[in-house]
Amino acid sequence: KPLDEIFLRQVWSGNVALRDSAKTLQGPNADAARAYLTIMKGPFDRLKDHQPFLGATAKPAGAGFYPDDLTKEAYEAYLAAHPTEVEALRGLNSVVRREGDKLVAVPYPVAYKEWLDVSAAKLREASAKTTNASLKKFLETRAAAFASNDYYESDMAWMDLDAPVEITIGPYETYEDGLMGDKAAFEVYVTVALPAESKALEGYKARLPWLEANLPIPEEHKNLKRGAESPIRVVDSVYAGGDGNRGVQTIAFNLPNDERVREAKGSKKVMLRNVIRAKFDRILVPIAQLVLPADQAAQVTFDAFFDEVLHHELSHGLGPGTITKNGQKTEVRKELQELFSPLEEAKADVMGIYNILALIDKGEMSKDLRAALEPTYVAGLFRSARFGAHEAHGKGVVSQFNYLLEKGALSVDAEGKFRAVSEKFPGAIKDLLHDMLMLQAAGDYVATKDFLDKYGVVSPALDAAIAKLGAVPTDITPDYVGAR
Ligand code: ZN
Repeated sequence: KPLDEIFLRQVWSGNVALRDSAKTLQGPNADAARAYLTIMKGPFDRLKDHQPFLGATAKPAGAGFYPDDLTKEAYEAYLAAHPTEVEALRGLNSVVRREGDKLVAVPYPVAYKEWLDVSAAKLREASAKTTNASLKKFLETRAAAFASNDYYESDMAWMDLDAPVEITIGPYETYEDGLMGDKAAFEVYVTVALPAESKALEGYKARLPWLEANLPIPEEHKNLKRGAESPIRVVDSVYAGGDGNRGVQTIAFNLPNDERVREAKGSKKVMLRNVIRAKFDRILVPIAQLVLPADQAAQVTFDAFFDEVLHHELSHGLGPGTITKNGQKTEVRKELQELFSPLEEAKADVMGIYNILALIDKGEMSKDLRAALEPTYVAGLFRSARFGAHEAHGKGVVSQFNYLLEKGALSVDAEGKFRAVSEKFPGAIKDLLHDMLMLQAAGDYVATKDFLDKYGVVSPALDAAIAKLGAVPTDITPDYVGAR
């Protein structure tokens, strides 16, 4: 598993030594600690803001991409003093190392040569075995990219993949780099395509302009000139590694991130159906049984959950993105800073429901979905709230509960169960979506903070409901039996 080896080093410079020393750990919690080390890909708890659960070392902000002791201030000062080196140092596919008192960029093919060579050889071996031309092209060009560090051609080939096996492999997301968000982490997904299920979703991309026009905000804030359309693929995951298999398991992704590829071909949304199914069976259904009244718990369905996940993903591409503030062009992301992502995630949840309701009304989604929609959504909020209701990120989730309670679209009964009030639900969702989109359209940091502070407070009723969920797992740990 060469990419796991790379990712371990990208998370923290001490990871490999720790993995070895953990083998001799003794005591009643030793096995649990080793298992959690594998799940979290390091000794830092990804469900608790990366606090160490083994040892006392704090996670460096720059993970394993920079010297451990490099602070943001020191790095920014260095960049300011060395303007000609900024482009190399801030590159997506390199690590930053110290050489004397200089900082140098070491490209991935040099830094991770040992594992990238093995991985490229495996990709070429796989390429020799397939008769599918699009897969062959991707595997060959991606193997070459591991040595050249230029991913453009293979990203284009990935967009063109039309094969029974869909493989996503390479350096992609930059979340692991907490210092600058510059550096891409290696991940891999090996998946089996589900062509019939993918075809069933083909119609949604054509409906995106209509959904944008239908948003409950004034015309001038709508983003009616959207770029390339994105294909949607439904797949079953048979192996995931590196950044694709750590902490909370990914249920869908949208790649590539290279803007040049996005302009030419759009981006591809990949839905991992079996992972979504496992979370539904093992987490969502048990949660529904504990926090919803029995009649509503019985209405929760997999189809509604899948549609809500899909429309959450599609909603990230709708609503204000580039905005004008004080006569200047800017981005919502830049204006809202660390509040952007809690608000944007909550927006995607709420807009997903709003859009499904609109498509049901329009006769483009089944009316049968209607009864399942609200209970499935409420159970889903509890699922998300458990990833840290009391932390900054959880405020977006908690806000949805409190806003809907205030509008009477949710009620808490004598047993502490949360009931969706169907008559009031669509109106409250529309109001909530309007308020969130207007915060984004204005790019108003202070108003966003006020909103999240007002609605993001965990109430005693919510706390009590979350406390009942102790026996339900927070997330799944896949065991890829075939790959093993
Ligand atoms: Zn999201």
